[in-house]
Amino acid sequence: MTEKKNINLTLDPENWESMRQLGHQMIDDLFDYWKGIREEKIWKPIPSEVKEFLDQPIPELGQDPETIYQEFKNNIFPYNKGNVHPRFFAWIQGTGTPLGVLADLLASGMNPNVAIGEHAAMYVDRQVVNWCKQLMNFPSDASGILVSGGSMANITALTVARNSFRDEKIRTIGLKSASAQLVLYCSVETHSCIQKAAEIIGLGTEAVRKIGVNESYEMKVEELEAQIQQDMQKGLLPFCIVGTSGTVNTGAIDPMDDLLAISKKYGLWFHVDGAYGALAKLDPKYAGPLKAIEEADSLAFDLHKWLYVPYEVGCTLIRDAKKHRDSFALTPNYLIQESRGLSGGLDSINNYGFELSRGFKALKIWMSLKEHGREKYAQMIAQNNRQAEYLAELVNGNPKLELMAPVSMSITCFRMIQPGYVESQLRELNREILLRLQEEGIASPSSTILNGKYTLRVANVNQRTRMEDMDLLVKEVLRIGTEIFESNN
Ligand SMILES: *Cc1c(COP(=O)(O)O)cnc(C)c1O
Repeated sequence: MTEKKNINLTLDPENWESMRQLGHQMIDDLFDYWKGIREEKIWKPIPSEVKEFLDQPIPELGQDPETIYQEFKNNIFPYNKGNVHPRFFAWIQGTGTPLGVLADLLASGMNPNVAIGEHAAMYVDRQVVNWCKQLMNFPSDASGILVSGGSMANITALTVARNSFRDEKIRTIGLKSASAQLVLYCSVETHSCIQKAAEIIGLGTEAVRKIGVNESYEMKVEELEAQIQQDMQKGLLPFCIVGTSGTVNTGAIDPMDDLLAISKKYGLWFHVDGAYGALAKLDPKYAGPLKAIEEADSLAFDLHKWLYVPYEVGCTLIRDAKKHRDSFALTPNYLIQESRGLSGGLDSINNYGFELSRGFKALKIWMSLKEHGREKYAQMIAQNNRQAEYLAELVNGNPKLELMAPVSMSITCFRMIQPGYVESQLRELNREILLRLQEEGIASPSSTILNGKYTLRVANVNQRTRMEDMDLLVKEVLRIGTEIFESNN
């Protein structure tokens, strides 16, 4: 007799009840965390013991879940990045919402692979993509796909743009089928993922023309058109213009109407990187300047930024669904679609993107949009924009502060100034202000360099921020700045 028939290993809990209790505890702890987050420090330095604890060899044997959770509570939970906090303004990072998190838990519990097959998640995914089209006023016969974020959304769109170039059969034959170098146009303020995407899809860095910007950091249209003409004269093949709806530095909006007109005039693909700011369309103030993105050939935008949905999720929309599908559709023998059964149902999502396995990221969007409705999101986005404008008013009203760029969308760039200080001293002063704001756990702006000048940068896609947080931020910048100045003199 062998022992074989008694060996039935599983990873399910030995004790379902205690795991259930642990799960309830986790949820309780999360709710306490969110409810009290405003009173907490936004950020804490990670002690060296914790870093050592997080640098151990792989466990050979298991330990009980309660102990693991305790380890999490001691070593991981307290040292969060802070973008759940009302005064997180670094980079462009969303806050998340409680229901969004619970939706992710449910999605993970159901654990469908949302690529192919006849199951409810496929229909939720399709509905969410349709809602994304409605949010952006794209035609109902456009196509789209949810991806991990803005970078993936941009490269997905640029792949379709490249493959759709004339009748060059680039998908089949590769770029060598094009008679000359394909050239892509964006601005010097365009997000780095566009250049990386151009490199990955085989265009190369040299095929990316970074057009200059005006004093509001918006692409200069005359320079764009002159560059296109010059490239054509050289026998190169201009094929795509990338406009940014909300640049990552200052929230600037490239002149969408002009970019659309130029792309039509020269027969180029018009792509909009709206990772941060396409959703600003919902704020009536920006609906006009962003109207033209409705006519873009493709649009990339993030839902983990300005829809406040937990990480990660972004969306690509493509006006011409056929071009989209023609760029990615491929059905190997192991993925044959049926008309019935589990392999029936909707077109495989893998026909619209590179990733095959996909989580049920649509659920958190589906639940969030149902919980709040489009109206509430429009108000929230407008609120962030008004908060940025209010911060700029506070800055303009104080002679010790200087606004460093026009406020566009929800980004405010400013710095403290000190009479007699040269540029390098101002840089040191503001850098030190920033680091102390973060280290004292007060607020987390980030920094950037604009026209060679170091500046604090407050980017706000935070659903927990209140106007009073802007007052506090200014007060603390002035307090810390004065302390630094006084200790230097
Ligand atoms: C954030 C951002 C990206 C990159 O998006 P990820 O979601 O971080 O991959 C691209 N473009 C702009 C304008 C952005 O703000």
